[in-house]
Amino acid sequence: MSGTLSEIELLGGIEKGLLIGGRFRPAAGGRTFAVENPATGATLCEVADGSAEDAVDALTAASAAQSSWAATPPRERGEILRRAYELLVARTEEIALLITLEMGKSLAESRAEIAYGAEFFRWFSEEAVRIQGDFTVEPGGSGRVVLMRQPVGPSLLITPWNVPLAMPTRKIGPAIAAGCTMILKPAEQTPLTALLLASVLAEAGLPDGVLNVVTTSDPEAVAAPLIHDTRLRKLSFTGSTEVGRKLIVSSADQVLRTSMELGGNAPFIVCADADIDAAVDGAMIAKMRNIGEACIAANRFYVHADVVEEFTDKLTVRMGKMVVGPGVDEGVEVGPLIDAVQRDKVAALVDDAVSRGARVHTGGTAPSGPGYFYPPTVLTGVPSSARMTREEIFGPVAPISTFTDEHEVLRAANDTESGLVSYVYSRDIGRAIRLAEGLETGMVGLNRGFVSNAAAPFGGVKRSGLGREGGRLGIEEYLEVKYVALDVDR
Ligand code: NAD
Repeated sequence: MSGTLSEIELLGGIEKGLLIGGRFRPAAGGRTFAVENPATGATLCEVADGSAEDAVDALTAASAAQSSWAATPPRERGEILRRAYELLVARTEEIALLITLEMGKSLAESRAEIAYGAEFFRWFSEEAVRIQGDFTVEPGGSGRVVLMRQPVGPSLLITPWNVPLAMPTRKIGPAIAAGCTMILKPAEQTPLTALLLASVLAEAGLPDGVLNVVTTSDPEAVAAPLIHDTRLRKLSFTGSTEVGRKLIVSSADQVLRTSMELGGNAPFIVCADADIDAAVDGAMIAKMRNIGEACIAANRFYVHADVVEEFTDKLTVRMGKMVVGPGVDEGVEVGPLIDAVQRDKVAALVDDAVSRGARVHTGGTAPSGPGYFYPPTVLTGVPSSARMTREEIFGPVAPISTFTDEHEVLRAANDTESGLVSYVYSRDIGRAIRLAEGLETGMVGLNRGFVSNAAAPFGGVKRSGLGREGGRLGIEEYLEVKYVALDVDR
């Protein structure tokens, strides 16, 4: 009962308008759209359904705020981030409940997302004061090369639903540190967490117009006019490769600076010399974190033939006993998938693999009843022709294949258009490094099932993206380098 009451209080206390120029307001057309609870299929509440007109208003507010924000002392920008970090941590329980309600993952996972996401504010609060220029003597003598680092300017941040707090903080943190103003367009499935985050930043002292939030059920209508507007200087997108590719094409018109964090298809390699218990622990994180709805989720397991039975048995036991249910319930480890489309896609991928000869060790059938649940599933004998070896599963399904030779597994692992992350378990340091060098991915987890950290550059190669988020490289995405040529002898 008290749980239900606090849900109602929580939802009632959230601003549901568009944040433009420091004021929450209804959409220009007065339209709203429903936010659904994936555990029940019920509507949680309605939020403003922004249009192209609202988007242009948001860019006007961001442009108006840009010069004074760029002139705000870096220490002050950093202190706002630090206060926002502290508020996020202090309000963990309330924000975790909100993430769980609109996205589905368990409360424990939502709390972990807040700890991870808030860290980008703490880390970039410290980086704001370390943006440095450069000064060099020209090789010929009297000339000087002066480099200035300045904010790129108004930036459009488009984020997905799977990590609704941390995907925005990973972009907003460096943008604030660098002195950029922003328009955040969160995913239509999870606008509430973004709105709450915006309120937290306002409470931390972020000036009006620096962060504007446009929620919408029609992302294309909101993004298109901004991408073609010369006042916009940067697009940072996290989402599917398909949409990212479209946005690169449309932003070519303006030669817009873009960062793209796109889809993955991570291989998880377990060598014969690996510590199998450690590999199973890592697999549980790499596969089951976020219900498998993660760009860095292990998508293909390659396990050496000598240890495949032990690995499969241990993983099957661990995945088979996970508690599936509504994320708000005590003890639940695996919440629902985001919606019916995603649940049906996962089920279709499993059916396809089974029809090609894969064997189900646990899971494999969606339960009936409300909510978009799918059980943790382990498959072996998945042939390379199965769709799930090429497509992102984005669900709690672990397809296992075997290998016997290091070169063979490297070829199989790299046989994909994606290149975000790969995982390797081996106790042979030489082999681990050889594989890490050969894997065509932006990140490698060596004897580790999780790779992201505020101090590290997150990002992919091949069709997994452009640019990096986090670490020193993360702030560069929001800075322009200006070269000033200077003579000192005249
Ligand atoms: P998606 O591409 O459908 O949507 C992502 C965002 O783009 C949402 O905000 C959506 O509203 C918006 N969008 C959709 N169509 C658009 C258009 N035509 N113009 C402008 N914006 C548009 O992806 P999703 O289903 O929300 O998220 C899952 C995908 O995100 C997966 O492929 C996953 O791998 C990827 N992802 C990548 C990372 C990373 O860091 N590499 C992190 C999380 C998720």
